[in-house]
Amino acid sequence: MDKLTAQQRHANMAAIRSKDTKPEMIVRLGLWKRGFRYRLNHKRLPGHPDLVLRKYRTCIFVNGCFWHGHLVDMQALENSNCCKIPNTNRDFWVEKIRRNKERDREEQRQLAQMGWHCITVWECELKPQKREETLDSIAFTLNHIWLQDHGAKAISYPKLDEEDLQIPMAAEGKM
Ligand SMILES: [Zn+2]
Repeated sequence: MDKLTAQQRHANMAAIRSKDTKPEMIVRLGLWKRGFRYRLNHKRLPGHPDLVLRKYRTCIFVNGCFWHGHLVDMQALENSNCCKIPNTNRDFWVEKIRRNKERDREEQRQLAQMGWHCITVWECELKPQKREETLDSIAFTLNHIWLQDHGAKAISYPKLDEEDLQIPMAAEGKM
């Protein structure tokens, strides 16, 4: 079976599964439709990124907002717009979310040292009304990374600094 056929088969399978609205599946299908190709759950990389795009030296993590404490301020322990820390067993949950966030940070630090860019996509950014905008934003970031890595100096794009790479989503940039 040649490569193109395998890709078509993959696309068909992705289309069949499109009713599966799991956040990771939304990202996979959305990027596939936009022409990006990737590997899944790369076991040898720290944190087992959900998607790995070798051409872009980029790992994508699709994070559940609660487990990874999206926007939760761990100093003030305030709830965010998208998740609440439960009042029952509050200390347990605070500790659990804090550990998850620390682990995420450490894994992304290791990946950065290995020369990988990391993109974090949050579950709440994949709700139907935000989904296409989020996927477009990921595609934009990937193209931006590619241009920067390949020194496309003729085109003047704004410089992508370390912070942008860690928090690349347009929606989060407005925080
Ligand atoms: Zn969220």
